[in-house]
Amino acid sequence: MSCIADALTHVRQQILMAEQQFNRQPHSVQLLAVSKTHPPDAVIQAIQAGQLCFGENYVQEAVDKIQILRADHPQLEWHFIGALQSNKTRVVAEHFHWVHTLDSLKNAERLNQQRPANLPALQVCIQVNISAEPQKAGISVDDVPTLARAIQTLPRLQLRGLMAIPAPAPDFATQRQSFRQLREIFEQLQAQGMSLDTLSMGMTDDMQAAIAEGATLVRIGTAIFGARAKKIEA
Ligand SMILES: *Cc1c(COP(=O)(O)O)cnc(C)c1O
Repeated sequence: MSCIADALTHVRQQILMAEQQFNRQPHSVQLLAVSKTHPPDAVIQAIQAGQLCFGENYVQEAVDKIQILRADHPQLEWHFIGALQSNKTRVVAEHFHWVHTLDSLKNAERLNQQRPANLPALQVCIQVNISAEPQKAGISVDDVPTLARAIQTLPRLQLRGLMAIPAPAPDFATQRQSFRQLREIFEQLQAQGMSLDTLSMGMTDDMQAAIAEGATLVRIGTAIFGARAKKIEA
């Protein structure tokens, strides 16, 4: 077994343990393997260990990987989780199955228009700036309902839920507070009749807190693939 296979097994066990500890249904939390900065060979090791969903942040790097892997692994599902720039929406709409980082009506309209007709609707989450950090990606909490309703009118997008990257927190209780806030917005939208099923929250350092607060998908890079070389965040 490769290191990556071992690491995946370990992360899956941690997810199961957190599900049990916080009274979540077994296997109710999906694992997205974040492969940014790691070569196609690392992705192949994860595929051989049964992983099919991968998250990427940098458009060109991701498209290169998607194209290299497509012939041998047509079943993979690619999730865009990086900062979404307007001039990259077309490439994202053409190559990805999911976008977790939608935070403007303008980009929603562009993705809707640019999603190729031969592909199913693009699955999207709204990124929310729950820590209300200036300079941070994501829309403010107050603007979520309006954007959610607007996305629901776009036929080539399917709104699945919400995503957040909270500011790093010093302890478990503080981590939970941010995630709880995202869950509460999610439940409010559901109470208004929206059928949403995805709470994309939790990374290597705060996965347990996210699962405690209802994450349905955790985005894990470091714990699977190891530390990343430094790269300038786009
Ligand atoms: C890089 C990244 C991750 C994975 O982070 P790790 O700490 O390596 O698990 C998850 N989500 C987003 C949006 C990221 O950019």
